Amino acid sequence: MTDAASIVALARPAIRQLSVYAHAQWDPGLERLHANESPWAPVGQDDELALNRYPEPQPQTLWEAMARHYQVLPTQIVVGRGSDEIIDLLTRIFCEADRDAVTVCPPTFGMYAVAAHIQGARVLNAPLRSDCSLDLAAIAQTIEAGSRLIWLCSPNNPTGNCLAESDIEAVLTLAANRALVVVDEAYAEFSSQRSWSSRVLTHPGLVVLRTLSKAHGLAGIRLGTLIAHPAIAELVRKVIPPYAVAQPTLEAALRALQPAVLAVTRERIEILRQERERLRKMLAQSPWVQGVYASDANFLLIATDTPEIVLERAKASGLLLRDFSGRDGLGGAVRISIGTPDQNNRLLLALRAVAT
Ligand SMILES: *Cc1c(COP(=O)(O)O)cnc(C)c1O
Repeated sequence: MTDAASIVALARPAIRQLSVYAHAQWDPGLERLHANESPWAPVGQDDELALNRYPEPQPQTLWEAMARHYQVLPTQIVVGRGSDEIIDLLTRIFCEADRDAVTVCPPTFGMYAVAAHIQGARVLNAPLRSDCSLDLAAIAQTIEAGSRLIWLCSPNNPTGNCLAESDIEAVLTLAANRALVVVDEAYAEFSSQRSWSSRVLTHPGLVVLRTLSKAHGLAGIRLGTLIAHPAIAELVRKVIPPYAVAQPTLEAALRALQPAVLAVTRERIEILRQERERLRKMLAQSPWVQGVYASDANFLLIATDTPEIVLERAKASGLLLRDFSGRDGLGGAVRISIGTPDQNNRLLLALRAVAT
């Protein structure tokens, strides 16, 4: 069993000893002559937006709203500029350059390895097995070889499948007191599997990433959330720059969490899930498709011998798909993000021509 103190002890000494930047005092009741801001709002911008002012340095209101939404405590939350920033921060906190390593399970999201390379940490691969499940023996080896962070993506990008609960539990046991296990749930809203976020209090060696970028339709505001044991969240708060969440982002996020907006979001998620099934069935019947990966996300990965033709036909209809051919053990592979019913119809029409 992992305790929080032993996970905090895995952090780089420089981070544990770090004295935090002392930002300007936050007291919205007083007029601000203490932070060297302009007293005027930018020309043409509403005074109400207060874009001349620094945002709340540690946005308590937002943490509380996110905590309510994800059904955890505000002390378990850190909000950053997308999950991408949280991925970077976790890597910098837990990996000493030229010594520590991270574990990634390809094919998976590319940022885990990029963040490691930036920090000078080694990247140890424990590739998914042919059925897209975790290779527990390979993961165990990476822990022996000095891994400090184990990146698990569920539902996984680009394959789309959820990782088995029993396998993630096995990884938590393997990693106990030796490495932090991160479950990236960027696509959780599209799956039926329950989130791991309710389990981070009892498993301090586990943290969860959530984002507003996908299901909430807010990729443009850049807002991602770490859900962790309070001791781990506190470490991340030490490192995240002050004012990390821009004021327009904060306001858009709060609006997205209002009940009326969430109700529409849920309807849209349901449409995308139905469209995913419709597209999956149609594509699976196409002669040029060798297989459609089972997906719990808002995209489908297609195995095909003719990826260039697929991409080209889609492009001719004004639709951009993503080529994953030859990446991390994949053969010909194309990832399709589920669009509106109309976009999906146009795609199906465009791809009908592939076989002819
Ligand atoms: C899209 C994506 C993210 C990025 O999320 P942001 O919050 O937009 O930075 C994180 N993880 C995975 C697996 C993704 O596919």
